[in-house]
Amino acid sequence: MAIIVQKYGGTSVGSIDKMKEIAKRVIDQRDKGNDVVVVVSAMGKSTDRLVEMAKEISQNPCKRELDMLLSTGEQVSISLLSMIFKEQGYDSISLTGFQAGIKTEGLHTKNRVAEINIDIIEKHLTEGKIVVVAGFQGMNENGDITTLGRGGSDTTAVALAAKLNCTCEIYTDVEGIYGVDPRVYPNAKKLDYISYEEMMELSSLGAGVMETRAVEIGFKYDIPIYVALNKGNIKGTYIKEYDENMEQKVITGLTSTDDVLMITINNVLYNSKNIATIFDRLSQSNVNVDMISQTAPKDGYVNVSFTTSRDDIGIVHNVINELKKEMEDIEIHVESNITKISVVGIGMMNQSGVAAKVFKIFADNDIEFKQVTTSEISISYTIDSRDKGKAITIIAKEFDL
Ligand code: ADP
Ligand code: ASP
Ligand code: MG
Repeated sequence: MAIIVQKYGGTSVGSIDKMKEIAKRVIDQRDKGNDVVVVVSAMGKSTDRLVEMAKEISQNPCKRELDMLLSTGEQVSISLLSMIFKEQGYDSISLTGFQAGIKTEGLHTKNRVAEINIDIIEKHLTEGKIVVVAGFQGMNENGDITTLGRGGSDTTAVALAAKLNCTCEIYTDVEGIYGVDPRVYPNAKKLDYISYEEMMELSSLGAGVMETRAVEIGFKYDIPIYVALNKGNIKGTYIKEYDENMEQKVITGLTSTDDVLMITINNVLYNSKNIATIFDRLSQSNVNVDMISQTAPKDGYVNVSFTTSRDDIGIVHNVINELKKEMEDIEIHVESNITKISVVGIGMMNQSGVAAKVFKIFADNDIEFKQVTTSEISISYTIDSRDKGKAITIIAKEFDL
């Protein structure tokens, strides 16, 4: 008899009928004698609807109240799912994050799991119950309800599996992890395995299929994560420790994000104090700067470009209006039709020339790139969004993704 954590995301619990379908999968495991902890997200797109309601009141609603609001979505799913189990003759209990012993720390709407007291879940499992836990939420040291960041039910699931030292299965609306999001590039190939490192990189660069922190926890506690479709028995993808038997590719995956705002500040009088001031103001306003580039000084002036999330457009405008008052010469351009394309692969550590190959692909296909950044296992390029489809298709074909 084993313990299994199964997580079902929004689409998997989008209606009562869908909940009944996933209940069958859970019951299957229960009938085999396994103890199951089910982690669920809010129904369908209900979290988005809650966010929209809050935005009708304020563009920057109080984060504590936002957490209070957003956490309600998951409570709807856990109670309904637990009712379904009971109706089918299986003892079950639904638990909010706090009731499941999940303590968190950090900023509201971006909390981290600090500690889990697993006693409560273990007690219910010992009593033979199917335990249904609300994903994405916990409680902080002040006793306030918190959330773990969008997509955070994955984190709840992996953190519970780590604490229970058991298998973690993530069921979703695709058959596993693909080299490219199959909704963006339908010819993408499904992977049997992907290393924690590559998945973390892909997630942090925009692949929404797994939440980055969830993969980090899997990596830290060596909990393999199985990602698969929420129905049937089609083989999914294991996220696990890298080993030599995994398919050897230079690039394992590609991800893209359109959520990019690129700001170019021309004519910045070149001294390090000015550059520091720009980024200091952005940081003080909590603008998360991603890529940065700067031209070589010419006649004592430089041009500085950086990218950030489109969500920050309002704050960025405020910051640059303030900067303009202090640095009279500067000219500012804001571009929002930008896509960031990132390629990821552990193989890059031992093989050079990947960036050059992608540069050539862009050059051969008249795709202009604006900025490039690299990490040990990834390279990211910003391009005009109109070239996105072309760029993805050509890179995917070239690298067999
Ligand atoms: P859930 O509600 O189950 O958490 P998500 O919407 O968060 O589901 O994640 C599943 C989605 O992730 C898929 O529908 C797919 O479009 C997207 N996705 C992004 N990148 C990938 C990838 N590399 N492989 C598979 N799916 C991906
Ligand atoms: N319901 C939350 C969200 O939409 C958490 C999750 O789905 O994982 O972000
Ligand atoms: Mg998700």
